[in-house]
Amino acid sequence: MRPSDTGWCDHSSTKTPVYWNVRPRPSVGRMRWLAPIFPDLMPGFDRHAQRRLAQALKAEAQRLGFDACGISTAEPLDEEAFRLEQWLLEGRHATMSWMERNFDKRIDPTKLVPGATSVVSLLHNYYVPETHCDDPAIGKISRYAWGDDYHQLMKDKLYQLFEWLEEQLGEVNGRAFVDSAPVMDKAWAARSGLGWQGKHSNLLNRDMGSWFFIGELIIDVPLPADAPVEDFCGSCTRCIDHCPTDAIYEPYAVDANRCISYLTIEHRTDDIPADLAGDMGNWIFGCDVCQDVCPWNKFKYATDEPGFLPREHTTETELREWVELDLATFRKRFENSPVQRPQFEGFMRNVRIALHNAVDEAFDPEADEA
Ligand code: SF4
Ligand code: SF4
Repeated sequence: MRPSDTGWCDHSSTKTPVYWNVRPRPSVGRMRWLAPIFPDLMPGFDRHAQRRLAQALKAEAQRLGFDACGISTAEPLDEEAFRLEQWLLEGRHATMSWMERNFDKRIDPTKLVPGATSVVSLLHNYYVPETHCDDPAIGKISRYAWGDDYHQLMKDKLYQLFEWLEEQLGEVNGRAFVDSAPVMDKAWAARSGLGWQGKHSNLLNRDMGSWFFIGELIIDVPLPADAPVEDFCGSCTRCIDHCPTDAIYEPYAVDANRCISYLTIEHRTDDIPADLAGDMGNWIFGCDVCQDVCPWNKFKYATDEPGFLPREHTTETELREWVELDLATFRKRFENSPVQRPQFEGFMRNVRIALHNAVDEAFDPEADEA
């Protein structure tokens, strides 16, 4: 439910390969699709070389600041496609009609990158060791939006990784994606062994929890796929039990119509039903409840990316101050920030709802008795 963004990786590097054990001849690049079928016949594409390249790629991803890197085979997401289709047919995507478009591209990476053989998934931690203030008079902004917009930062690193790949191989056909509309980033990350999709639908990683961004390179380079990991949610239902709006209607499925992240970011009109608005509490951009309560997030650790540190005003500004915000200050304060996504009107609607809820809570006689 973050803004969609697609970045073409339109390089045509002529740099000399330095990693590949046999430099691919020009014709090899065009015949690369044969490599997975006849790996031993293709110069430079034997399995050992693929494995060494994958290891070196992961080391380079780590050097660039990514926290985890996994590889999956670029093939149709048949099982995920069935679930996505059902979810769309039931209207669980609310007003996000863009999710209905490009269905074929969404489920088949070769429709996005002709000849694609591998999907490289990357995770980038954004956790900072600060907690949400529990004062209902403070407007709460989702953690991922405390710092700079992640799209450009992630894309810059993905492009650097792509360039590194071209330095090893010569020209590579591929694209970089960060939270892009036609790519099922969580599904690819799960396939590549970087975690599993928890009952709240976010990806969970055993070493990091869930506070990370996901990006991908879809490329025409055959690489050995990593094995998926099992689901470690077990009998836990904390995310379902704590969701303020009952948006997780069944394990592993979120109804955007009820999700505060959708309502505060993607929903563009003032027609949020009163019962839902009342359950939105003091969230003015996004919602972290299902991730905050997840036991796997005890494995979180602080990011070393300075761009994700909280900006002034993002974690402790009172709602009565937010309600005075004007357009010019909004633009200045949230320049290059994800908080721009709902635009000024949407953000101020959220502030008004949160303020209403805070006043209600302050005068709640049951709260006084408790
Ligand atoms: S983001 Fe908030 S509203 Fe949405 S599913 Fe998670 S807890 Fe529920
Ligand atoms: S809170 Fe529990 S059920 Fe939900 S994602 Fe985390 S481990 Fe899974």
